[in-house]
Amino acid sequence: MKKILVWLRNDLRLHDNTLLHEATQKSEQVWVAYCIDKRLFAPNMLGIPKTGNFRAKFLTESLLDLRLQLRKQGSDLIVRLGKPEQEICKIAEILQVEAVFTSKEVTQEELEVETALEQNLTSKGIAIEYFWQATLYHINDLPFPVCKLPDIFTEFRKAVERQVEIRKPLPAPNKKISPLPKNLFAGNIPTLKEVGLQEVEISPKATFIFKGGETEALKRLHYYLWESDLIASYKETRNGLLGKDYSSKFSPYLALGCISPRQIWQEVKKYEKERTANESTYWLIFELIWRDFFRFTAKKYGNRLFYPSGFKNEKLALAENTEIFWKWAKGETGVPFIDANMRELNATGFMSNRGRQNVASFLVKDLKISWIWGATYFESLLIDYDVCSNWGNWQYVAGVGNDPRENRYFNIISQAERYDSQAEFMKHWLPELQNVPSKKINYLGELSAKELAEYGVRIGVNYPKAIVKWTLAVKVSK
Ligand SMILES: Cc1cc2nc3c(=O)[nH]c(=O)nc-3n(C[C@H](O)[C@H](O)[C@H](O)COP(=O)(O)OP(=O)(O)OC[C@H]3O[C@@H](n4cnc5c(N)ncnc54)[C@H](O)[C@@H]3O)c2cc1C
Repeated sequence: MKKILVWLRNDLRLHDNTLLHEATQKSEQVWVAYCIDKRLFAPNMLGIPKTGNFRAKFLTESLLDLRLQLRKQGSDLIVRLGKPEQEICKIAEILQVEAVFTSKEVTQEELEVETALEQNLTSKGIAIEYFWQATLYHINDLPFPVCKLPDIFTEFRKAVERQVEIRKPLPAPNKKISPLPKNLFAGNIPTLKEVGLQEVEISPKATFIFKGGETEALKRLHYYLWESDLIASYKETRNGLLGKDYSSKFSPYLALGCISPRQIWQEVKKYEKERTANESTYWLIFELIWRDFFRFTAKKYGNRLFYPSGFKNEKLALAENTEIFWKWAKGETGVPFIDANMRELNATGFMSNRGRQNVASFLVKDLKISWIWGATYFESLLIDYDVCSNWGNWQYVAGVGNDPRENRYFNIISQAERYDSQAEFMKHWLPELQNVPSKKINYLGELSAKELAEYGVRIGVNYPKAIVKWTLAVKVSK
């Protein structure tokens, strides 16, 4: 092939990039383009942008990093703002390429875009070739067709661990990406304002500041393994809530493809060989297998990923009460563990896995509000939003996904006491509760007016009244 255009989607990296590898093997002239899809910033069903400013900022940083890397090679990243099915086709025509190489996605909107692009390209006589590359295990290596994928994670995990070899990550292409011809403008990376969003204000309370891009992703990988050895205690710390080190923080990088799961896997294997191999080092890979499972399950079930009745086809009696929903979303439920987590999400675009499980369970199981709303809210806010992991996890917590355990329920108070026993996390995000003793913080409704006054808490004034009546077994230990 003479000329190829690589259309990047969620694979903003040079290392282990099948598209770049294949294109540079097959052609002497290769260019790389990304189109920011304008539709992703339109209001969703809740009236907020489908992609909020935390993720948009992370995306623009990731594009800039890739652009700088390509510029070092004498090329550039072609950037457009618009509809990929139109913009990528226009670029392909100007460059007179024979083919566009891109990643295969699995969910509706992404498939619609690639189908529309394929039609446009075909009408111009340009081919499109798809490659699979988002997962740790390659789809073609699975020991079953995706339609026969086990519905239970453990069955999936055991089968792939036993029978499939993970493919080695590919090196960054050693052949150069071509310089842009004079008749093609590289395009500016738009500002948040240009896509209709407000600039991000970094909260001084944020304990980790995410910066997008492959360079940062590889730095974090190096830090988490080699510099700090944090990986060697990951299993013990992963349920933490506060700080930058209790978990890997790889998720936004994985979501946009600034790092590949195979690259992480290879580095962990190296670490196990050279430093230590234990349950924790394995557990990080275990979590990456969860990520794979959600993606393959989404492929298996198609649009059921977004159905209120989920993969299980289970009808839940859930309400659509906007007043209660927005109290949850803003972190004004009067339940400190929930509010602290939601305020962290709103201030930073991130929340721990433990926090996500609790706020999701609380919305669905305690407040009885539609999980679809919760997932839609997360989609806008999360810096690490990944369509399959987000909607799949929400289904799981709501009880309509592939969870073999019936009626999984998180008792918010015992979770708060277990995972934030000194109330450090809650007090970090709820300074108005600073003076409440940690043992009493989850039981504000049971404290006398005198006690509350002593702790500087004015219910309904500086901290909201609880929106649910607690009927929990655990009682306050005074
Ligand atoms: C309701 C809900 C919504 C979620 N939405 C998303 C989402 O949109 N994007 C996303 O990446 N993760 C999502 N998760 C999964 C998980 O919470 C995050 O991946 C994790 O908190 C990210 O932090 P980390 O990178 O430090 O994770 P670590 O604990 O260090 O894990 C390492 C990696 O393993 C993967 N992983 C870990 N747990 C899960 C899981 N439960 N499901 C899938 N992959 C996992 C992630 O890629 C993560 O980066 C969601 C979980 C819940 C309960």
